[in-house]
Amino acid sequence: MTAPNPIPGSFTTTDAAELYQVPNWSGGWFRVSDKGNMEVTPSPGLHAPLRAIVDEIVDRGESLPVILRFPQVLAGRVKHLNEAFQAAITEYNYSGHYQGVFPIKVNQRRVVVESIAAAGYDYAHGLEAGSKAELALCLAQKMHPDALLCCNGFKDDGFIKLALWGRSLGKNVVITIEKFSELDRILKQARALGVKPAVGVRFKLHARGSGQWEESGGDQAKFGLNAYELLRVVERLKEENMLDSLVMLHTHIGSQITDIRRVKVAVRESAQTYAGLIAAGADLKYLNVGGGLGVDYDGSKTTFYASMNYTVKEYAADIVYTVQEVCKAREVPEPIIVSESGRALTAHHAVLIMPVVDVTGPTRDLEDLVDPAEDSHQLIKDMHESLENITLRNYREMYNDAVGDKQTLHNLFDLGYVTLQDRARGEALFNAILRKIAKLVQHEKYVPDELEDLQKVLADKFICNFSLFQSLPDNWAIQALFPIVPLDRLDQQPTRQATIVDITCDSDGKIEKFIDLRDVKATLPLHEPGEEPYYLGAFLMGAYQDVLGSSHNLFGKVSEAHITVRPGGKFNIDLFVRGQKARRMIESMGYEEPMLRDSIEDQADAAIKAKTLTTEEENELLEDYGEELLGYTYLEYES
Ligand SMILES: *Cc1c(COP(=O)(O)O)cnc(C)c1O
Repeated sequence: MTAPNPIPGSFTTTDAAELYQVPNWSGGWFRVSDKGNMEVTPSPGLHAPLRAIVDEIVDRGESLPVILRFPQVLAGRVKHLNEAFQAAITEYNYSGHYQGVFPIKVNQRRVVVESIAAAGYDYAHGLEAGSKAELALCLAQKMHPDALLCCNGFKDDGFIKLALWGRSLGKNVVITIEKFSELDRILKQARALGVKPAVGVRFKLHARGSGQWEESGGDQAKFGLNAYELLRVVERLKEENMLDSLVMLHTHIGSQITDIRRVKVAVRESAQTYAGLIAAGADLKYLNVGGGLGVDYDGSKTTFYASMNYTVKEYAADIVYTVQEVCKAREVPEPIIVSESGRALTAHHAVLIMPVVDVTGPTRDLEDLVDPAEDSHQLIKDMHESLENITLRNYREMYNDAVGDKQTLHNLFDLGYVTLQDRARGEALFNAILRKIAKLVQHEKYVPDELEDLQKVLADKFICNFSLFQSLPDNWAIQALFPIVPLDRLDQQPTRQATIVDITCDSDGKIEKFIDLRDVKATLPLHEPGEEPYYLGAFLMGAYQDVLGSSHNLFGKVSEAHITVRPGGKFNIDLFVRGQKARRMIESMGYEEPMLRDSIEDQADAAIKAKTLTTEEENELLEDYGEELLGYTYLEYES
């Protein structure tokens, strides 16, 4: 379907920025350049066009799709968060300080963890592990001596021991008690190793988050102690004469909190609980307010699940203010404030580049198909007449007729009364009628409800070389929205309305919901692809789902490029990591490469005996087979 307002020459890059809402969701990390390119902008003065980066990757002979990762953006996010808290602390004259931790479950990739650890060093920004494997990984990172290494999640003796060894290595490891029985386990292991533990307690707030992860908080939450258990921990540590080991109160009400009021309510409850523990004799140093800092995926600045109604600055200010207010009222010392932002640190750094490989859709019908033949069925002739006679006064009726006619067409076809040729004509006529109606109503103020999904029906399908299940699983699993923008041609009016389909053989492998300032959009305006490759970028995809990808259809991990932007619009590709080879994917399902090759060879030998294959052809076949085993799992076109 054609996008509205196609006045040639009137479309500017400012219009493109508005159309794709780039300034609203990009947080300043991406922009539309004057030349009509999407650019990454890691810091003031630094910028590079994404298209040029992709072109260089292709020139090097590498295959797409690819994920571009920008360590500078990760560093920028760490700085942004820490500076927001520092500014609030200065403004309110808060006597404690801020020390964040990055929960690595949000993205354990080496470039992510190392970039955050490095950028966080000067801020003593720490890490958080939720499993033994994650802890092993965190312990190996170079961290500021004061930086926290929080251990969350359910723990066995091995986990606790490793955490205690971490203290012996001089790291500020804090073991969070998620359930009461973990306390005795910790005390026992600590005695055995002769290491003094530092423990935190996770408290089940009655406050809840908002949005998709509301259930993470509240009385029914999976993790955490209730008030009674909290006081028992204090009593138990007192008995052991170890109350000074209790250093942190930890709370977390879920991810992507859309409404700042929920943050304030939860922090107030946390701070009151902190004051209560101090009153009970504990000497807590840290108050950990957990994660939940959102990402404004759709740029609407609302409490919609893909958005948030506050900024990082407001988040930090509200936390510092609320903690201080409670501490003043309760006359307790102001603690070191800890937060565990994961999503907000990682989402922006990664962009999935999806090459458009084909376009299909109802607007692609051959125009001559709509003319009835002499011997066409009467229904086809009627539909053709309808097409000719649609006006603004009768389009509603014509629409309903067309829907009915299409149904009749298919019934008659099933019964053998309509030929395959007429079926083709009828379907083309139906689409032509809808197209004509869509064009008629595009400037109408009021469009009846039944025509609302006209856009969706008429949308082109842009087939992109990627797997939704590997690269954007959150879109499929939890309806997450990611901004999608063409990498270039942003100085040209997009003329198509599109949905996106991936190359898996799964009908769920499609994107039909796009960001909008109000609710969501059913289609995305895109350009008609020409001779030049046309690439789409999916932005803000660097949190959580970046490490969740699954191998549907054996499409494996996507290639990655790590990019540093240099002054003057230049960039370096620091590292290119090739995506998974077919063989690796097949082996992960329990097959073995030699077994597969042997089977093909046996079949080829049999074919030679049967004289359907020559020895020469066998060699070629085996070579092609072997090459595919070693190849990328995505579509590869010679360029
Ligand atoms: C997952 C998790 C986080 C991260 O939350 P974000 O919303 O991504 O910042 C923080 N704390 C805990 C305990 C978590 O489980």
